[in-house]
Amino acid sequence: MQRERVVIIGSGPAGLTAALYTARAQLKPVVIAGDTPGGQVAITHEVENYPGFPGGLSGPELVERMTEHAKEFGAEFVNSAVSNLDLTSGSPFHIRLREGEQYSADSVIITSGADPRKLKVPGEAENIGAGVSYCGTCDGFFFRGKDIVVIGGGDSALEEAIFLTRFANSVHIIHRRDKLRAGPQLRHRAQGNEKISFIWNTVVEEIINEAGEGVSAVRLRNVQTGETSNFPTEGVFIFIGHDPNNAIFSDQVILDDEGYIITDSHFRTNIEGVYAAGEIQDQLWRQVSTSVGQGTGAAMAAIHWLEENETQLQDLSQQANAH
Ligand code: NAP
Repeated sequence: MQRERVVIIGSGPAGLTAALYTARAQLKPVVIAGDTPGGQVAITHEVENYPGFPGGLSGPELVERMTEHAKEFGAEFVNSAVSNLDLTSGSPFHIRLREGEQYSADSVIITSGADPRKLKVPGEAENIGAGVSYCGTCDGFFFRGKDIVVIGGGDSALEEAIFLTRFANSVHIIHRRDKLRAGPQLRHRAQGNEKISFIWNTVVEEIINEAGEGVSAVRLRNVQTGETSNFPTEGVFIFIGHDPNNAIFSDQVILDDEGYIITDSHFRTNIEGVYAAGEIQDQLWRQVSTSVGQGTGAAMAAIHWLEENETQLQDLSQQANAH
């Protein structure tokens, strides 16, 4: 098995930045791109707050530029996902991909991100692609002229609701409280949009597909009165936060109560040689720019550690290969 100096798991802004920095340090990083190459930003319609791009640019374009930039310095990209990895035995770490390919890596940078949280109500899983969506950019076009609902009261819900008004006839935002979590700018834009209205203090109990031809209604419950009702809609867009993608290492790396990796200020995990950056270790900021900064930090910490331990790591790798 070939010895890699650094394997990066995930290809969102944190992973792509870590790839750029480790590639420029001549470490020939291998990026295991995962099932959503580019991560969440790759399915974001427009990024307006990434410095250096006045007027904004599309998420896919930003991802493409970051990927090309890392490749320019020698980063290798593998379009697959990790099926299992052994971190607890120490460096070199063993990584197996879904198709069976194996890697041995002196260091690992985990940037596996987080996935959209599910409502976990009847009718949700069954109707993904038939009216239930977690991505306005991907699916908005299919809801031209339709009446749709958006679930959630945070920045994502409002940003996506505003975007969806380009296509939909009406957008009802259903929120479980009577106060939005979203910041003032998006709040004002959403509240000033004539296609958007709000249903407060209300949760979705079921997503209904009456005729088996796609979503036809949601069953709502007012959390204050307990009253339930069916609300006709053809599209249910759910933006209620994210869950960290930690399944492959959750029993090896120390996580916080919500499943995010705990790192120190050098982006080190509890395992020497294993670093984490981006949304897998940060549920607070979740910006492209913060992920880029964290990817930079993790890469620089890994570069220093690899330099300091070069001789020892070479011996360990040879011993592992001899077995
Ligand atoms: P979030 O801020 O955690 O908001 C999630 C929303 O979903 C909350 O309003 C929450 O209600 C609601 N919710 C959670 N679980 C629910 C459930 N089971 N049923 C019904 N409602 C539920 O998540 P986010 O909007 O994805 O944002 C994540 C981070 O990204 C934030 O820091 C945000 O500022 C940032 N972000 C920024 C921008 C921007 O600046 N342009 C855009 C998108 C995201 P409660 O309010 O009652 O908890």
